[in-house]
Amino acid sequence: MDLSIAINFTYIVSAMLFIFGLKMLSSPATARKGNMLSAIGMFLAVVATLLTKGLSFQWIIIGVVVGSIVGALAARLISMTAMPEMVALFNGSGGIASLIVGWAVYHYTPAGDTLTTFTIFLAVLIGGVTFTGSVIAWAKLAEKITGKPILYTGQQIVNVLILLMVIACGVIFCMNPAASYPIFIATVVISLILGVLVVIPIGGADMPVVISLLNSYSGLAACAAGFVIQNNILIVAGSLVGASGLILTNIMCKAMNRSLANVLFSGFGATVQKKGSGEQQGEVKPASVEDVYYILEAASSVAFVPGYGLAVAQAQHVVRELGELLEANGTEVKYAVHPVAGRMPGHMNVLLAEANVPYDQLVEMDDINPTMDTVDVCIVIGANDVVNPAARHDESSPIYGMPIINVDYAKTVIVLKRSMAAGFAGIQNELFFYDNTRMLFGDAKASITSLLAEFKSA
Ligand code: NDP
Repeated sequence: MDLSIAINFTYIVSAMLFIFGLKMLSSPATARKGNMLSAIGMFLAVVATLLTKGLSFQWIIIGVVVGSIVGALAARLISMTAMPEMVALFNGSGGIASLIVGWAVYHYTPAGDTLTTFTIFLAVLIGGVTFTGSVIAWAKLAEKITGKPILYTGQQIVNVLILLMVIACGVIFCMNPAASYPIFIATVVISLILGVLVVIPIGGADMPVVISLLNSYSGLAACAAGFVIQNNILIVAGSLVGASGLILTNIMCKAMNRSLANVLFSGFGATVQKKGSGEQQGEVKPASVEDVYYILEAASSVAFVPGYGLAVAQAQHVVRELGELLEANGTEVKYAVHPVAGRMPGHMNVLLAEANVPYDQLVEMDDINPTMDTVDVCIVIGANDVVNPAARHDESSPIYGMPIINVDYAKTVIVLKRSMAAGFAGIQNELFFYDNTRMLFGDAKASITSLLAEFKSA
């Protein structure tokens, strides 16, 4: 069989594995298998690509060794709370790789056909924007630069002018690529600048959405690079990343009840608008570990509602242990997961899966809400915005309209957090002042560990 047929056949198998893998990622029960399937698909794609004639293995081996060391170390050393930052850097790497592929092909064959020239331009433009945009997103999330939106007058006009410049460069470049090296370099520089400029006006709070969007861009850049080097699997994989990144961005915007335009252009978090931000709205009722123990001991149904604080405290294992003790005590236990709880999509699902929480106990927001008034106790673990009732009724609230888990409809709400500090949106939560709410102050892991001790000594 002709080698190129064998390679393309393997690419088809890889593409199928990617698609099935992606499908399986949509449920916690099949996600691990889906990940494994996609990894096998990628392995096959890499092996098939290495069979291509005329490769310089010296550089490939250096790349594989360096990349494997960096990847393995990062996977082991990065904490779960820093995962969004890591994803940002991954996207940035994808972007710069596509830019370099486009550049290399142009450098060695500057007089390509129009399609190749156009895709080189796209790979460089999207790759450049993705690279610097992702680095800024990483820096904001890692608090290396201010997380506040950086705004100045005429900002959007400047961005539009720069975009027009890129388009002009693109037209000149595509019309006469062989004589346009300086224009090409200008495209590289402008796309890198554009990446910085489009991300700096977006608040740190919205970075996860931006990262998801940049993920989609990195896919599009890879897809363009696939056309440049005529590699079918790169085109397919790039399209899959591009499409799934866009779908994810859309899901996140919907879960926050905001449009993508609002996320990208509103400078959310720049002004300290916010009615009730930080201000006391009555008296809170603190509870001791012992109080909470007695409440839980008597409950016939308990719903845990995890949020970002669960990730910070790394309390997932002790929560699962508490869930098991409650079940042994005859209590029905559920975990109610909000789609944007935490700092990245699926954040809570990943943590709970890591702690081996049974999948059948995970309940999505839309399924738990109609039954919330039958729940005896809701334990809110480091969640804040996603359980703020102001989202339902307070039109002046920045999170008004965001779907929330209606924990306040449960008979009793126990909130585990360290202080009265606000969550991600920077606003006070009226839930904490409700009659049926008790606050258990302290680090979530420490509080739950103490609760476990109460149960075990009883
Ligand atoms: P929040 O950020 O609203 O609140 C987290 C709470 O956890 C804080 O109030 C904090 O209070 C508490 N906390 C922090 N550390 C600990 C600890 N060690 N122990 C106990 N509590 C702790 O989180 P939510 O999950 O409720 O909401 C997520 C927010 O992120 C939403 O506003 C959402 O829109 C936004 N967002 C999420 C995205 C996603 O993809 N998941 C994407 C974009 C935005 P204290 O400091 O007092 O302990």
